[in-house]
Amino acid sequence: MNANKLIELSQDLICITDDKGVFTFLNPAYTDMLGYDAKELINKPFFNIVHPDDLEKTNKEFENLLISEKTINFNNRYIHKNGSVKYIEWKATSVSCEKSVYATGRDITESKLREFENTELEVRLNALINCSTDFMFLLEQDGNIKIANEAFANNFGVSVNKLIGLNVYDLLPKKDGVRRKKAADKIIKERKPIVYSDERSGHFYETHIFPSYTNGNVELAMFTRDITERKLIEGALIASEEKFRNLADTAQVAISIVTTNYEKGILYVNKYWEKITGYTKQESFQLQALDIVHPDQRAMVNERATRRLAGETVPDHYEMKILTKSNQTKWVDITITLIDYEGTRAILTTAIDITERKHADVNLRDEKEQIKTILNLVNDPIFVKDDNHRITMANKAFFDIFNLDENKVIGYTLAEQVPENEREHFLTTDRKVLDTGIPDLREETLTSDGITKTIVTSKTRFIDESGNKFLVGSIHDITVQKNAIVALAKSENRLSLALETGHIGAWDLNLQDQSSHRTLIHDQIFGYKTLQSKWTFEMFMEHVLPEDRTDVEKTFKKALETISDWNFECRIKRIDGKMRWIKSTGKHILNSDGKPIALSGIIQDISEHKWSEVELVRAKKRAEESDRLKSAFVANMSHEIRTPMNSILGFSGLLSGSNLTIAKKDKYLSIIMKSGDRMLNIIDDIMDISKIEAGLVTVEIEEFDINEQIDYLYNIFKQEVEAKGMNLLFKKGLLNKEAKINTDKDKFIAILSNLIKNAIKYTEEGNIEYGYELISNGEDSIFKFVVKDTGIGISEDRQDAIFERFVQADIQDVMAREGAGLGLAITKAHIEMLNGDIWVDSKEGEGSAFYFTLPSKVSVDVNQAIRNSVASDKSNN
Ligand code: ADP
Repeated sequence: MNANKLIELSQDLICITDDKGVFTFLNPAYTDMLGYDAKELINKPFFNIVHPDDLEKTNKEFENLLISEKTINFNNRYIHKNGSVKYIEWKATSVSCEKSVYATGRDITESKLREFENTELEVRLNALINCSTDFMFLLEQDGNIKIANEAFANNFGVSVNKLIGLNVYDLLPKKDGVRRKKAADKIIKERKPIVYSDERSGHFYETHIFPSYTNGNVELAMFTRDITERKLIEGALIASEEKFRNLADTAQVAISIVTTNYEKGILYVNKYWEKITGYTKQESFQLQALDIVHPDQRAMVNERATRRLAGETVPDHYEMKILTKSNQTKWVDITITLIDYEGTRAILTTAIDITERKHADVNLRDEKEQIKTILNLVNDPIFVKDDNHRITMANKAFFDIFNLDENKVIGYTLAEQVPENEREHFLTTDRKVLDTGIPDLREETLTSDGITKTIVTSKTRFIDESGNKFLVGSIHDITVQKNAIVALAKSENRLSLALETGHIGAWDLNLQDQSSHRTLIHDQIFGYKTLQSKWTFEMFMEHVLPEDRTDVEKTFKKALETISDWNFECRIKRIDGKMRWIKSTGKHILNSDGKPIALSGIIQDISEHKWSEVELVRAKKRAEESDRLKSAFVANMSHEIRTPMNSILGFSGLLSGSNLTIAKKDKYLSIIMKSGDRMLNIIDDIMDISKIEAGLVTVEIEEFDINEQIDYLYNIFKQEVEAKGMNLLFKKGLLNKEAKINTDKDKFIAILSNLIKNAIKYTEEGNIEYGYELISNGEDSIFKFVVKDTGIGISEDRQDAIFERFVQADIQDVMAREGAGLGLAITKAHIEMLNGDIWVDSKEGEGSAFYFTLPSKVSVDVNQAIRNSVASDKSNN
């Protein structure tokens, strides 16, 4: 029974199975260890709880046990009810008679796991040290290699296994070996780790040696690293830093590294920095960063630095002023970057000296001001527009033309300031110039403030360095000129109208190219209907009458030589052959040097004027003459009228006497009658001439036979002629009935009677002959009449005068002969009224022949007759 108690208390597992492995007994330790109740396992095979991986092995051991009946040891794994694995070491034996197996087991799970762990750690450590390219090895005190990694073994060209147990000092060159041994001994003695570097066959090594104490023995753990690469990199780094410094020093930019707090020092500066600031590197390192900043800007820079450090975003690129060592102010363009410098945060600044540019900016600003001032002095509005039609610049004149302030113009399109109809036009031209770059120059109207102006706008495109397009424009207000031109045109119009009305021809001659301009009237004066394509001085001279040419040439020559004005009159022959008087006046057109460049003149047809002038002279002469004659006439008339009057009164008185014979009475009566006739004649003549002069005489044309009138006159004058002891003869040029004439019959009779009367009066002996002949036949037949006498004749110098009125009174020596001196004047007027002519052919003392012509079919135009008379006078001039 005690034994049972022991089995119950045992910590070892105790169980009995049958030969099939079915549990027949288990102690509490067994069930505790695997987490089952005894009931769950009893009568069931133990194989159920064996680890599946160990089943085969366990089965083999179990069969072995049954056959051999020996006590055997083995271990296998079981699965705990919670699934975990248990390692159990068994001692079992079989009892064949009982067909039973007895077994005790011990839980070895913990030690088994530790064992695994250790093995695994070692493997991992080995893997680790073999991974490394560094040499790792452990030496025993005498230098035998206890542990080594593959890298170390490779170094000697052997495997790790072969290396173990060898003495490391033997493997090294002797010199190295001795040296190292010494070092190792020192470590062992001093119990301090060491590090040393050495160079072998071009490689650099760094070796760390640590003393390690195990079980009272001292071992040396060594770690050697090939630092060749690091060495090279370090070298390169030094070189590269050197390079950077050189680079930084050659840069044309000031570079500095300062502490994040500007109040602390300057860590690095380059050469250019020295140049800008005037401080040497050594001096710089004594400064605080803010010392360099211009006092005006220190607060700003410091504040930014503080905010930057606090993580706020502050400008890291700006322009600022610095103060150099010599207290000079300079402008720099500074860029700030936060960097790591030798393990701490620092500020890297790069700065470019922009002092000159700043000065240039100031100059530019000055220049801009200057340009603005100059532009403002320009009277013409000038403006610059951007690509969107907005005014970017303009001068005062421009603001004025729109009557706007500068701040209402700059930045605006001004489209609102002009009427809609003009706006579109402005914008369109602007666009075109901006797009094409073709300058635009045009005259247009601009209405601002309700006033419309005529302007000439010039627009050009300008493209700046950045490619922005601008429109540069200028406006020239030509309203005044425009109005002047309109006024000029008006006045020119008036002038040409005046020239036309005055029938004045204008011409000019360019002395340089001999080109000439004339008005139509000019050419018309010379008889041309249209303006001639060509006109020269020679052509002009061709028209001048030959008699006037010399004078004209002289006048012109003098005017040209003395560069003076000219003014002359001359006669020209028009293209239709008519002679006209012209007046030519003109002057030289001079250039600014006073040199004549052109001639400009006018000509005027002054014929009417001239002729009326001639007429006037003649009229004046006539008036003077007639005045003189009238005085004489009055004197004579008193005689002429008084003589018959005296006779009438005298003999009438005698008639009243009582003792008068009949014969005497008859004689007195006949004298009275004759005197009455004479007075009547005188009064008739005076009446006639008065009528003629007053233009009251009319012409009455009728057809009559000349021969009949010849006969009629013969009957009238025959007695009177024969009474004076002379013969009256006549000559008919045509046969009776052929001699028809169309003219004023009464005047015809008066003309012929008067001439015959004169012939009788101024002839004492001989014949008086009269007659006619037809001198031109056809449409206009012309008859020539003659009255011939053998009387006293007329001296040559008086032959013209006798046809003037009152001329008889002028002749002293013929005072004896009665007559008012009006007869021939009346006769001449009558003949001319009938389109005829009268002239005399006479020799003093031999007789006179008066001829006159009369056309048949005369016109009744009295005025024409007068004109013809004037014209004939002129042609005699
Ligand atoms: P009067 O009444 O004096 O005759 P007339 O006009 O008829 O005036 O003549 C003008 C002058 O002409 C006369 O005074 C005379 O001297 C001159 N005369 C006219 N007819 C003749 C003539 N047949 N013979 C000479 N002298 C003449």
